[in-house]
Amino acid sequence: MNGIRHRITWTVILLISAILTSIILIYPVKYWTDGRHNTYIINIHLNDSDKILDCSQQLKYTNREKEVLNELYFHLYPNAFKKEETVPVLKDELSIAYPKGFSEGYIEIQEVKVSGRNSKYETEGETETLLRVEMQKGIKPGETAEVFIRFKVKLPHCIGRFGYGENSINIANWYPILCVYDEKGWNKDPYYLIGDPFYSEVSDYEVSITMPDRYKVAHTGQLMDTRYEDGFCTYIVRADKVRDFALFASENYEQIENRVADTTIKSCSFSGGGEKALIFATKALLTFNELFGKYPYEVLTIAESDFYVGGMEYPQIVQIDSTAYKDDELWLEYLIAHEVAHQWWYGLVGNDEINEPWLDEGLTEYSTLLYFEYNYGAERKKEIMQSYIIRNIELYEEYVNTDDIIYNSLYEFDDWRKYSVVIYSNGAMVHEKLRNAIGDKKYFTLLRKYFEKYKYKNARIADFINLAVRIAGKNAANILNNY
Ligand SMILES: [Zn+2]
Repeated sequence: MNGIRHRITWTVILLISAILTSIILIYPVKYWTDGRHNTYIINIHLNDSDKILDCSQQLKYTNREKEVLNELYFHLYPNAFKKEETVPVLKDELSIAYPKGFSEGYIEIQEVKVSGRNSKYETEGETETLLRVEMQKGIKPGETAEVFIRFKVKLPHCIGRFGYGENSINIANWYPILCVYDEKGWNKDPYYLIGDPFYSEVSDYEVSITMPDRYKVAHTGQLMDTRYEDGFCTYIVRADKVRDFALFASENYEQIENRVADTTIKSCSFSGGGEKALIFATKALLTFNELFGKYPYEVLTIAESDFYVGGMEYPQIVQIDSTAYKDDELWLEYLIAHEVAHQWWYGLVGNDEINEPWLDEGLTEYSTLLYFEYNYGAERKKEIMQSYIIRNIELYEEYVNTDDIIYNSLYEFDDWRKYSVVIYSNGAMVHEKLRNAIGDKKYFTLLRKYFEKYKYKNARIADFINLAVRIAGKNAANILNNY
């Protein structure tokens, strides 16, 4: 995510008719996983007048842990948007996020089956952002279960990651996504109001999206087929080895695209700035392909959206605030470079963004500087570093405890400014210092090896440090162990 510096003020029930049911059932399971990842097969139908999504989801889950699991946990992020008092938006940003006043958003679980049989389930957490599904005899290591969930999602009139505005419908962090099970057990962190409070595993997705045909849709994944029927359009989309699935819809999207290095870059915009966005995204993809290792996916989409926080990364798609297309070009370029860098750091190499946000944000912010250096030279990088990073640190010096940057969790922060100064700006400077200490050759070897070793996985800060020390010895340790 990025959006702080220039925005310092930051600032029904749908009857499930026979027609809808048939739409949900038309598309059979086609692409099962090769067994290395879980597979989500999701059907979405938008009821436009109520802004409700009727959905079904089939998760093919394999227990890759060493112990028997008696339950599975899923995040129900939309439930964070139920009540004004607990919505993950800062109080002074509520009027910006909800331009027409607060409106509720939620997810309602209607049915859960495990391997074809009705299963016990319950919601948990202060705002019911967790779903616990009981696994009747437990799933042993290596065993597979199919978890079917029927649910509906109410989109709020909110111009955040999740909701809708005048020009776009933003559907992100919206379906029951499996929590990560790691050495700490199930990670059940709620939707925190600062940072990008997400943590997930790479999975395969097959998603069918049905919307009134006046909408055009930008999404994670590759479009496999499009079908028109009775005023609706159904998009069949497949995405392999991604850690989330997001989509954005607009009646006014104009799509242009560019094919570079085995990737089609798409720019979907509604305010006329799509060409600039496409140029910046193309440059960013080429830059990071060269510096970190090749982007392995077929598509990358830049989606303009009604969005009050700058930019937000999702696998194979980035969400960019519409106003950035009208601001100075440098800000749009900065945002796009930052969000495209997240395709490497968050998308491909994942991490626990709640407890170790420096790992992706610090490196992504520094990668943004590398973009400017690669494309415009070392002097330009210095200027950008001075105006975007160092100035931010100098302005808010009181926030910085220099020996405690790397290991902050999101919970240490209760405002975006402090988070931005510590994790983004100081976080990027840790990389600058590391690079200066170990030299370019070893620093870029480190980034390339880190990418190669952890792509499609989740890395820890300790993994990054260990790799750095292996490559550059005590020069790296001296820097990284100081923060
Ligand atoms: Zn970011």
